[in-house]
Amino acid sequence: MSTKLSQVEYDRIDNIFTSVESEVLNIEAPGRINLIGEHIDYNGGNVLPAAIDKCIYYSFKKNESATISNVLSKNFSEGFSFDITIPEKPGDGWLSYLSGVLSEIDKIRPGKVSGFDCSLDSKLPIGSGISSSAALLCGFAKGLNELFSLEIDDITIIRLCQNAERIFSGANVGVMDQFAVVKGKKDHFILLDCETLEYSTIPAAMNTNMLLLLNTNVSHNLADSAYNERRAQCESALEIIQTKYPEVKTLVEATEQMVEELKSELGEDRVKRSTHVIQEQKRVEATVEALKNNDFTLVGELLNQSHDGLQNLYEVSCPELDFLAAYAKADDRVLGARMMGGGFGGCTINLIDEKNVDGFVADASKAYKEACNLDLTPIPVKTNNGVQKI
Ligand code: ADP
Ligand code: MG
Repeated sequence: MSTKLSQVEYDRIDNIFTSVESEVLNIEAPGRINLIGEHIDYNGGNVLPAAIDKCIYYSFKKNESATISNVLSKNFSEGFSFDITIPEKPGDGWLSYLSGVLSEIDKIRPGKVSGFDCSLDSKLPIGSGISSSAALLCGFAKGLNELFSLEIDDITIIRLCQNAERIFSGANVGVMDQFAVVKGKKDHFILLDCETLEYSTIPAAMNTNMLLLLNTNVSHNLADSAYNERRAQCESALEIIQTKYPEVKTLVEATEQMVEELKSELGEDRVKRSTHVIQEQKRVEATVEALKNNDFTLVGELLNQSHDGLQNLYEVSCPELDFLAAYAKADDRVLGARMMGGGFGGCTINLIDEKNVDGFVADASKAYKEACNLDLTPIPVKTNNGVQKI
């Protein structure tokens, strides 16, 4: 059970972090992009995310209490006092995410966390597919790990944050976001096998090209239910494929020929979902090769194809994302673009030469306003290290 901090209490906690700097632990938790490999993390696929230079900033300090802690979010201008041994109800606001992390940590290091104060301030847009949620959970978990010398390894942190997010958001989230947020490396993408968690880093230097996110500033509330539905469709598609091909262990291992052969058993929706998953996995492999060969025209084409798959086969896009992806595709200044993240809103990711950014953003903003009557928020991003002490 939590109680909301009064303004006086909020200010008192907030002041702690400016007045006793030497005892304060400061943590930076980045958001993440995913260059390509969308909706395949939970289908055993390889994905190509990176942590970014837009972060949530945390300050932590132990307090005198055995179990009473205070947490405030400057973005929400609200804070809570709560007993860390009493879990919050799932879905009950942002504190319930943090409470989920505490519950998961307690399973691994029972009784090792005592009272603390914590303040967080974020430069990450919320609900825009840049994974403010994974940054929130992983930054909090890594901060507590450091503050209480828990010595929990990164992979366990990643898994416990994934579990906490699953339970407390109601969405059966994959592992990519947490992995990128924790394991990110500046100037690199991470090529991650979501089945085994084996990974390698791929240099992200792209000549004069850069990555530009365009935030649609919409977030349709279909996202969680559609996400769970897509997962279920992929799981049942795999089961159907396995009846004939038991050697296929994850959906990305299936082939388009298998899908064609089993199309009447699968039905139209599962055929489309499976086809996207199989093709998207191939595009990830092709993108890694193209990056190694400095073939950024090809990287751009693969991004465009990825959007097509997400729009028409996986059906997780929305009119605003489709407008921006089509606008970018038709504009010679952009090498390629696609929707990024779970879908139904959030951002597109655009590969573009630095020198074209200002002109393109001005034109795209005007066109977006005319077509969708909404403001566009451009977010240029660079790759970054994962959660770290600052
Ligand atoms: P995304 O991860 O794409 O940004 P989600 O819907 O998965 O969007 O996560 C957003 C949720 O994460 C918010 O509703 C809130 O509960 C939590 N959150 C993110 N950033 C903050 C913040 N700065 N302060 C408090 N809660 C936050
Ligand atoms: Mg999220």
